[in-house]
Amino acid sequence: MLATDSDPIVAIATAPGRGGIGVVRISCGRAGDGAATALMQALCGQMLVARHASYVPFLDAGGNALDRGIALNFPAPHSYTGEHVLELQGHGGPIVLQLVLQRCLEAGKPFGLRLAEPGEFTRRAFLNDKLDLAQAEAVADLIEASTEAAARSAGRSLEGAFSRAIHALVDDVIGLRMLVEATLDFPEEEIDFLEAADARGKLAHIRERLADVLGDARQGALLREGLSVVLAGQPNVGKSSLLNALAGAELAIVTPIAGTTRDKVTQTIQIEGIPLHIIDTAGLRETEDEVERIGIARTWGEIERADVVLHLLDARAGVTGEDTAIAARFPGGVPVVRVLNKTDLTEMAPSVNRLSINGDADVCEVRLSAKKSEGIDLLRAELLRIAGWQAGTESVYLARERHLIALRAAQEHLALAAGHAEQGNHALDLFAEELRLAQEALNSITGEFTSDDLLGVIFSRFCIGK
Ligand code: GDP
Ligand code: ZN
Repeated sequence: MLATDSDPIVAIATAPGRGGIGVVRISCGRAGDGAATALMQALCGQMLVARHASYVPFLDAGGNALDRGIALNFPAPHSYTGEHVLELQGHGGPIVLQLVLQRCLEAGKPFGLRLAEPGEFTRRAFLNDKLDLAQAEAVADLIEASTEAAARSAGRSLEGAFSRAIHALVDDVIGLRMLVEATLDFPEEEIDFLEAADARGKLAHIRERLADVLGDARQGALLREGLSVVLAGQPNVGKSSLLNALAGAELAIVTPIAGTTRDKVTQTIQIEGIPLHIIDTAGLRETEDEVERIGIARTWGEIERADVVLHLLDARAGVTGEDTAIAARFPGGVPVVRVLNKTDLTEMAPSVNRLSINGDADVCEVRLSAKKSEGIDLLRAELLRIAGWQAGTESVYLARERHLIALRAAQEHLALAAGHAEQGNHALDLFAEELRLAQEALNSITGEFTSDDLLGVIFSRFCIGK
């Protein structure tokens, strides 16, 4: 049978492994109160008072207690999913939770109770208007947040701060659209529309606000996704040592034998709450060693996908012919920081220098000592600058790439609308159409008129039981 959004579903909601408590959650779907009543009788041997904590046994088919714990009964629509929900909070052992889960499936079989898919409870919450799409995504982002700043901004999105900003924009666009559409319906009044209604002024105001929201969302996306930073350079220049200095711990193997870092090591560190996924790579050099060659090929793959490349050099040798050859292969468009390492072995002091190479691209050079941990702060600051990070995360909403794309699309449509407005009243219908498209882009963020495919993509990435 095909799984549908109205099936009764059950899942273990707590993380796998052992814990103080473990939660099994049931959302009754179309089976509703009838199923809930039958399940309460079968599992707890009694009816549970709505929204009260009841300390009860969890019974097997023979009436023996599998566990004892707190059971909660949330009749629709006052539950997480908006459906009739039952929650059994027992002991957090993997076997006992499996037993309770199996017992639920057995007792719920007459109603078609099945295991929930990843994110299915939250998908229901969205479909039943408990959360909008941006808030539903914030649930997963809060669970997955890798830094405190990311968790706090996911919390703000879950509370609806991001959705409210989007709704305020949509309201303004709708207001303007209504003015225009009314004018289109009464062509004789078109003459002074743009002037009289101050359509241009209103549009300019909306565009400013949208730019602000996009700025905050961009910061939020940075908090969520982080930045992938690749350490590249010849063997022995100190890539692994720099990773350790940035992370403040001994992670990668540091040895004086050239070519020891064959496989990539990724370590996520944070700078001001932004996750930096730092990838240590095999040293780039000509080699006969087959295994090393594979590592080097992989390194180039990492470099192609990086947000930032740190090109490490030995400060004593300076920029060698090999380094120039390596730099020439860096893909255009990826920011590169040239790091002169091992300043402690030279007369150089840690510093940041902006170089203009061949008169065009700006290259930033940071001089530091990974081993002595001198100048590491300069590099951190440079990474934040490249990331486009503005200090202060108070008003940032945790946003996703999907949201940024929609905001940019809205921005483009409003820019086109502004262009039509410049052409006067005869382009009013085009003006109106761009406003409509901008509104559609904004609505896709909170999930009004969303396709099933998009929902599938978003919710399949959740954990089970959420
Ligand atoms: P990789 O091959 O580029 O990863 O280089 P490693 O990090 O393994 O370092 C190679 C050698 O250089 C090791 O002996 C390190 O201790 C040494 N080294 C790395 N950074 C520095 C530094 O800043 N100063 C000094 N004096 N030695 C360093
Ligand atoms: Zn290394």
